[in-house]
Amino acid sequence: MASAQHLRDAIRDIPDFPKPGVVFKDITPILSDPSLFKESLELLCQTAQGQKIDKVVGIDARGFIFAAAVADRLNAGFVPVRKQGKLPWQTRQLAYTLEYGESVVEIHEDAVHPGEKVLLVDDLLATGGTAAAAVQLLDGLGADLVAISFLIELGFLNGREKLGDHRIESLIRYD
Ligand code: 5GP
Repeated sequence: MASAQHLRDAIRDIPDFPKPGVVFKDITPILSDPSLFKESLELLCQTAQGQKIDKVVGIDARGFIFAAAVADRLNAGFVPVRKQGKLPWQTRQLAYTLEYGESVVEIHEDAVHPGEKVLLVDDLLATGGTAAAAVQLLDGLGADLVAISFLIELGFLNGREKLGDHRIESLIRYD
């Protein structure tokens, strides 16, 4: 049976990355261990709760790693939400505020059709700005957002408050 404790034990704290004062949660030890990676995917798939998912949407860039593998396991399509300027076709864009400055995320305008059941996946929920922008893009396309799944939630940053009434599941939470 998959257990989030194994995953928690593998996550590495990197002080002062990418800038002084930030403690970065490094998930690469999970990716490089076949059984831990498999466990993380099994647990993320469980957040679909047996519902038929049409599209798994992953957020640039670590979200892609998990979302694409989850999509395969759920027999769903994979859709990337990318940083500005990376998607080749027509896009919907959304600007959001970071701690310092602003960022823009994009989705192909035909990537999700109205009413399709979507699972949104990212590696980590911090302030919630990134995921909230992805949610707004999906709302704009008329997606039926079944759940938002994170490997890690930094609970002390209250990111889930930015995500409205959507169901939010995180495998590992730091309070
Ligand atoms: P937020 O917009 O919620 O503040 O930041 C979440 C986004 O930043 C996610 O896409 C995530 O990949 C990235 N991120 C922020 N802090 C960390 C961290 O400590 N570890 C990892 N792996 N990703 C982080």
